[in-house]
Amino acid sequence: MADTIYDLAILGGGPAGYTCAIRAAQLGLKVALIEKTDKLGGTCLHWGCIPTKSMLFSAEVWDHLKHAASYGIDGVTAPQLNWDNLLQRKNDIIMKHTKGLDFLMKKNKITVVRGHGRLTGPAKDGVLSVDVSDEDKGKGRDLQAEGFTAQTKTQVKAKKLVLAMGSDARMLPGYEPDDTILTNMQVLTLPAMPKSLAVIGSGAVGVEFASVFNSFGADVTILEALPRIVNVEDEEISKELARQYKKRGIDINTGSKVEKIEKNKDGALVSWTDGAGKAQSKQVEKVLVAVGRAPRTYDSAIDKLNIQLDRGFVPVNEWMETTEPGVYAIGDIVAGLPQLAHVGAMAGIVVASKAAGKYARPVRKDRVPGCTYCDPQIGSVGLTEAQAKEKGYQVKVGKFPFVGNSKATILDSHDGFVKVVSDAKYGEILGVHIIGPQATELISECVTAIELEATVEEMMFTIHAHPTLYEALLDGFSAVEGMPINV
Ligand SMILES: Cc1cc2nc3c(=O)[nH]c(=O)nc-3n(C[C@H](O)[C@H](O)[C@H](O)COP(=O)(O)OP(=O)(O)OC[C@H]3O[C@@H](n4cnc5c(N)ncnc54)[C@H](O)[C@@H]3O)c2cc1C
Repeated sequence: MADTIYDLAILGGGPAGYTCAIRAAQLGLKVALIEKTDKLGGTCLHWGCIPTKSMLFSAEVWDHLKHAASYGIDGVTAPQLNWDNLLQRKNDIIMKHTKGLDFLMKKNKITVVRGHGRLTGPAKDGVLSVDVSDEDKGKGRDLQAEGFTAQTKTQVKAKKLVLAMGSDARMLPGYEPDDTILTNMQVLTLPAMPKSLAVIGSGAVGVEFASVFNSFGADVTILEALPRIVNVEDEEISKELARQYKKRGIDINTGSKVEKIEKNKDGALVSWTDGAGKAQSKQVEKVLVAVGRAPRTYDSAIDKLNIQLDRGFVPVNEWMETTEPGVYAIGDIVAGLPQLAHVGAMAGIVVASKAAGKYARPVRKDRVPGCTYCDPQIGSVGLTEAQAKEKGYQVKVGKFPFVGNSKATILDSHDGFVKVVSDAKYGEILGVHIIGPQATELISECVTAIELEATVEEMMFTIHAHPTLYEALLDGFSAVEGMPINV
């Protein structure tokens, strides 16, 4: 191992790292992937995207069952939540995909090095190296039986190096996660469904968990310091989600600054100052802290490289190159890009292609789909109306409500709308914002349209099958010209 010089070594086996590894191997590079835990997949597979969506799916089925009689299905009178089975299903999905990743590593002849990687400094004679120790190698799997050689205290050498260490949940200052004050990790392994939950932070992670626990009957309180929930979205989307959440009985408190969390025998008393400056408090069983993610750049000896961190994040250029020659960074540790699995994965593809001397295109922040899988779902891409105006565009907006879409009626999912933000001069699509059924799937058409620089007019003449939810997009684009058919 120590004598092999890889073309590319990647530090971190999350979606950014493993995607980069696979594409680099497909392009003929000799690749090593270093991962400190015993499982590939990172936050996304084990503590993020996949487990949350499994729980959201269970919640969606549960919500449908509540209306079974109106769909013509009798006999579903008293559905009961089996929390253990719900968690087991989530774990089975994670395990299936973990094994899938192990298979893909073998298939692509990628050397997986299990252990904690630390950088040793700039390249010597064109070779970079990473010291790998087994200090936090996970337990519970027989790696040798699975065909891996457990590597301890070794050094990985490579011509190029990719940093992909990911991120950790941020905590409120002065608090540590435990079985009452939770991050995305503890909340995914709760022994039982809590009766009440305070969610601090209303980004995608916060509102998704709020949706799940509200569906299953918990009393959910959202505490958000900013003036609106899902703050990165278009203002009208925030308003609509707040309206829908209030209808569902979720207690939303914006402009609210959490002052303290006092644990007691029944859970915790959460105190905050509300938007009007008044002191408020609420007793809850559990508190979920969802106030963002911090880059994991603190324990890999990154200071040995010529990289000036930006509040812990790694600055890169458009090709994800850092200021240290031969070293790239991708995924949640990168400064200035959204912390999303698909952003990290695409950055990994860009790096692999560049490293192999092949065609690549930079990741463009204005073409990244943002998907929030709450109920109703949110899917968005490009500029919000306010951002487009700030940039000086003469903005033309089209809006179409799902109430005019026949498939939405069939799915009993009428709430929400499509909002298209375009440039009045050339009809360029600047942004699309969807809240409603399957918004996270529907947004893909809009990402492609923006990527291919389609105009509103071109989309108005693109045939959309009937009856589908995505017909709402045809109506949304037509609404820009004041000509939706179905409203
Ligand atoms: C609750 C939740 C839900 C989410 N849902 C979505 C979603 O629906 N869609 C979406 O796109 N994104 C979602 N995200 C975000 C997504 O999980 C992250 O953007 C993504 O995992 C980042 O990928 P990454 O490869 O950069 O880092 P990570 O997934 O964090 O992986 C980094 C890996 O590097 C390893 N590592 C770190 N340091 C070292 C070291 N020194 N040596 C060796 N190994 C190391 C870690 O063990 C880890 O396996 C969600 C996040 C959370 C918390």
